[in-house]
Amino acid sequence: ESLNNYLDLKGSIRVFCRIRPLSHEQSYSSRTMFTLDESNVFLRVAETKRKQYKFDKVFDPSSTQGDVFSEVEPLIKSAIDGYNVCIFAYGQTGSGKTYTMEGKPTDLGVIPRGIQVLFDRASESNSRFLFTFSMLEIYMGNLRDLLVPGNKTNGFKNVPSLAIKTDPDGGIEIENLVAVTVNNFQEVKRLYGVGTRLRSTASTMANSTSSRSHCLIRISMTSFDAPERKKARNKLWMIDLGGSERLVKTKATGKRLKEGKAINLSLSALGDVIDALQTKKPHVPYRNSKLTQVLRDSLGK
Ligand code: ADP
Ligand code: MG
Repeated sequence: ESLNNYLDLKGSIRVFCRIRPLSHEQSYSSRTMFTLDESNVFLRVAETKRKQYKFDKVFDPSSTQGDVFSEVEPLIKSAIDGYNVCIFAYGQTGSGKTYTMEGKPTDLGVIPRGIQVLFDRASESNSRFLFTFSMLEIYMGNLRDLLVPGNKTNGFKNVPSLAIKTDPDGGIEIENLVAVTVNNFQEVKRLYGVGTRLRSTASTMANSTSSRSHCLIRISMTSFDAPERKKARNKLWMIDLGGSERLVKTKATGKRLKEGKAINLSLSALGDVIDALQTKKPHVPYRNSKLTQVLRDSLGK
């Protein structure tokens, strides 16, 4: 019930903006390019002209990983309470997506903090929980399992894309996606390392694709209110999206251009789906990309 209040109050789709600190190679004058308040960023587009961008919340450059996490924590808890939840980081390469989602060993991001919260919450619950961990990448429209070490040897050459299946009640399953049962944070951490290594190995072979692919973490949870009595099954997605840079600006050619186009296509498909959900359009265009097909049962209600 408290979750329903939360959704009524805050909406089922929330968009935050995090502005990362300037790195030293940038000049400080770029600071005057924007001003912000709690939920708006005002971008200076001309001497006297400002463009306003509205968000549910804006995190200024001094915000900590903890500040960001405290805003998404209720969503992560709602996964335990029976909702499918999806958390994305969207932005250009270098804007801080990986820092926000994964973080640094000494300054953990949303993914490790979220997983910790899931285990804590499950241990406090009266129900028993079974968690599984999966990790995949969407590259050029192909779904690649990051937990199959055999894929490493050939950088995913000749490895077919995983297929997406819809079951009769609308649930989405990715066929043959490895889902490893996990009992604690350490086990997830180890698997995340396996997936990350596979991703980066494949990336060098495919010309540093990490910013031109989407990286998806899935935690599936089944709850039992008595032994063998299944109560609910839901999932939490945490996603580091491919870079949203404009291709014209990056002057990409050849393979990079193709990769960039694939990313842009799926990011705009995701944008269209979110827009249709937010404005309650009768038709939600999930079918336009693999990304939105995979997330179909985890976006919207
Ligand atoms: P992306 O994944 O969007 O390409 P990264 O997360 O790799 O970008 O961030 C680019 C660089 O900026 C990294 O060196 C990262 O550590 C740093 N960085 C990003 N966000 C922050 C932040 N909020 N505070 C400190 N450093 C940050
Ligand atoms: Mg990144």
